[in-house]
Amino acid sequence: MDQNEVLFDRAQKSIPGGVNSPVRAFRSVGGAPRFIKKALGPHMYDVEGKQYIDYIGSWGPMILGHNNPHVIEAVKEAVDNGLSFGAPTVGEIDIAEEIKRLIPSVEEVRLVSSGTEAGMSAIRLARGYTGRNKIVKFEGCYHGHSDSLLVKGGSGLLTFGTPSSAGVPTAVTNDTIVLEYNNPKQLKELFDKEGDEIACVIVEAVAGNMNMVPATQEFLETMREETAKHGTVLIVDEVMTGFRVALGGAQSLYHIDPDITMFGKVIGGGMPVAAFGGKRDIMNSVAPLGPVYQAGTLSGNPVAVTCGLATLHEIQQPGFYKRLSEQTAKLVKGLGAMAKKHGVAFSAQSIGGMFGIYFRGKCPTSFKEVMECDADRFKTFFHAMLDNGVYLAPSIYEAGFVSITHDDSVIARTLEAADEAFAKVKRVHG
Ligand SMILES: *Cc1c(COP(=O)(O)O)cnc(C)c1O
Repeated sequence: MDQNEVLFDRAQKSIPGGVNSPVRAFRSVGGAPRFIKKALGPHMYDVEGKQYIDYIGSWGPMILGHNNPHVIEAVKEAVDNGLSFGAPTVGEIDIAEEIKRLIPSVEEVRLVSSGTEAGMSAIRLARGYTGRNKIVKFEGCYHGHSDSLLVKGGSGLLTFGTPSSAGVPTAVTNDTIVLEYNNPKQLKELFDKEGDEIACVIVEAVAGNMNMVPATQEFLETMREETAKHGTVLIVDEVMTGFRVALGGAQSLYHIDPDITMFGKVIGGGMPVAAFGGKRDIMNSVAPLGPVYQAGTLSGNPVAVTCGLATLHEIQQPGFYKRLSEQTAKLVKGLGAMAKKHGVAFSAQSIGGMFGIYFRGKCPTSFKEVMECDADRFKTFFHAMLDNGVYLAPSIYEAGFVSITHDDSVIARTLEAADEAFAKVKRVHG
């Protein structure tokens, strides 16, 4: 047995499933997860010393690649000043000002430590601000694992509040309405009927938790119009897309002006920083100014904030997003060509440094279509790539991420691995 298998056995004796976040356990692809010892640039190294090209990037944060020297230096300096004070620091103002400058819809911003917290707080804020209880989310969108948002809803029309986790009372999710992604007609019908009772709509403008599914312009515009008309708070969840699909986030690509935006992942640069922010009028409902309670012992932690700030500085270098987008586009184009060469039904697309690959002839536009992707072919492909030193997300429901350190030689090596992997998919599955 290799060290990864030994450690996975050991981990499962003291950690549920051997992991601290479920998808890491490789359950949907099988086999032992790789235990990572260190990483540098586009590469990660497991405990066996095997090198992998990393297309997970810690699920989004590592946009600069691993161990960026400027970020590491800033963090080391911050550590020397102390780990946590539970009192205001200058870095918190700096990062708030930086976020405001980069995302014009944000007038005030509160830092938290995870995207889950940002989502939970944003929902509470929207409810507190509007005095309404009902919330709307979309099938296949993920906004963290707080109770009221853990609803996926079945197929068909409106699905009222069936929790998708044990331990979530239906009393909590009864006020969560789940609609289809990219179905503006359904959204409009709901708002015509009960828009005045809805506290907020929460959406991923480019969905990244059902693989990658970009919203249509019409979908988001209808959402903005209807929410504005009915005094409903529009929350755009940019935990994944913020500073990832573009410097101004997905809202800059779609020219959508949300009331509240959630951030996470890239703004922490690999440390626990997330945030929710938006219109001053709404944000002023948060404690200590307003009646909506929200707090955190480690919120705005000085070391984590330093890491986030240093990351936000690096991504503002001229040409950063142009290059990141080009490299990501080269990857998906190359993968598409390899699949075609081997006659495997496959599609792929990218926005900025984020991509989706699908074992399906056409890129999906809804959760239902994502469900039609061929999980068995993906599984074969995933393991062939992993054996060949390419680390993709171990699920057909995850998006992929490219860093600025994924240069042409890294992409070329990935495509060589893909050449063999697609050949294997064809051999095994026909
Ligand atoms: C990752 C993610 C979250 C949750 O963030 P955590 O830090 O894992 O709690 C919320 N929303 C979206 C869109 C995400 O991608």
